Amino acid sequence: MIIRVVDVHSHLDEIADVHGAIAKAKSSNVVAIIAVGTCKESNVKVARFSEMYKGYVYHAIGIHPWNLESLDLGEEFEFLRAASRSCIGLGEVGLDYRIKTDRDLQRKVFSEVLGIAESRKLPVIIHARAAWSDAYKMVKDIGVEKAVFHWFSGSDSVLKKIVRDGYLISATPAASYSLTHIKAIRLAPIESIIVESDSPVSYRGVVSDPSWAVKSLEAVAKIKGVRIEDLVDKVLGNTCRIYGMKVHGWGVE
Ligand SMILES: [Zn+2]
Repeated sequence: MIIRVVDVHSHLDEIADVHGAIAKAKSSNVVAIIAVGTCKESNVKVARFSEMYKGYVYHAIGIHPWNLESLDLGEEFEFLRAASRSCIGLGEVGLDYRIKTDRDLQRKVFSEVLGIAESRKLPVIIHARAAWSDAYKMVKDIGVEKAVFHWFSGSDSVLKKIVRDGYLISATPAASYSLTHIKAIRLAPIESIIVESDSPVSYRGVVSDPSWAVKSLEAVAKIKGVRIEDLVDKVLGNTCRIYGMKVHGWGVE
């Protein structure tokens, strides 16, 4: 049995020793990494990593709600429209109602990015905090076909709609201890789950890297009460389906 994991959400541009982290991921059964961007500057960096590690690092470009107040949004949108022809998805983008940034502004930006995703038929990687229901509704209303609700920890009712509509949730290493995250993973069918590290986020005080996507998979296996061997190919299949990747030899392309 081969363990093959795609880390579907890493902030490679925020990792101190990125080349070391990628080498570690390669030797830890991580067969591909999706690097997500959070603003133009970050998007340019993640695109560079996907050039540098062609066939191993893929990139998504976005506008993170945490960055909105410091950005020239016109410039950001223009960049996204042009660069969305060569990325694997759009994100990280979404809504965060725990921050002070004006909610109307957050929704306006999210809506604009969802519109680009819809027109380009690209998957969207969504950040939502205390805003799961609004985020879901906007994705649905704009008619986006492929969406990943990253680190999902919203209500059961929103989760049921996400599953019903064929969207996915991604599990982080917090699936080993966060009760809201565990509850969501328990409720979602395996067909709706993919895994990520969200590196370099710290989990219980320890800085993560993309190899931690394997820990996320182990946590999902534990919650689901299945052997990791019985989960690997299903999660890989879900990842390939949403990002249009194919399993190729040991890895994906
Ligand atoms: Zn993130």
